Amino acid sequence: MSLGSRNLTEPSPLDLTWLVDYGLAAAKIAVYAVPEAELPTAEAETRAGPGGWLDIWLRAAFYDSLFERNHRTLRARSTLAHEIGHAVLHPREVKLGQEAPEALSLQRAARQSLPAFRDSEWQAHTFAAAILVPLTTLRTLDGRDPSRLADVYDVSVPLVASHLRRCRELLPSQGP
Ligand SMILES: [Zn+2]
Repeated sequence: MSLGSRNLTEPSPLDLTWLVDYGLAAAKIAVYAVPEAELPTAEAETRAGPGGWLDIWLRAAFYDSLFERNHRTLRARSTLAHEIGHAVLHPREVKLGQEAPEALSLQRAARQSLPAFRDSEWQAHTFAAAILVPLTTLRTLDGRDPSRLADVYDVSVPLVASHLRRCRELLPSQGP
């Protein structure tokens, strides 16, 4: 899956609208805006679609705020990137969860004893931050001020802060 080369060559916001309209189809991932009544307990969900596709359902208000900037835009960007993470990393779990929800809840219970990095939610969060704030361009920037980086990549400050914590060993150390 190509995420758009610009995002990987210069520090810039990932173009999620392009991914929704064009880019994700190459990976057989589709994104749908659905009414809140169909997603009462979550902002988004990844489901098995027909023909081996994975369908990301996003509440309509969040879907719209990807295209029309408003107070939900940053949240919508990280939520969609998180769901793309599930679609790319966990297609088997997505299908299993739909066919046998009880099997998935058993897996979740077992997961509590796993290290954090084995947890699928942790993996999706980490994936989201990695595509929104790629290390390849992060390394080219002077300074690690989370608010400035949040502006550069069009993400929230907490997302950048936790990404920097997780990646501290992968980033060259910078002077005080
Ligand atoms: Zn998730």
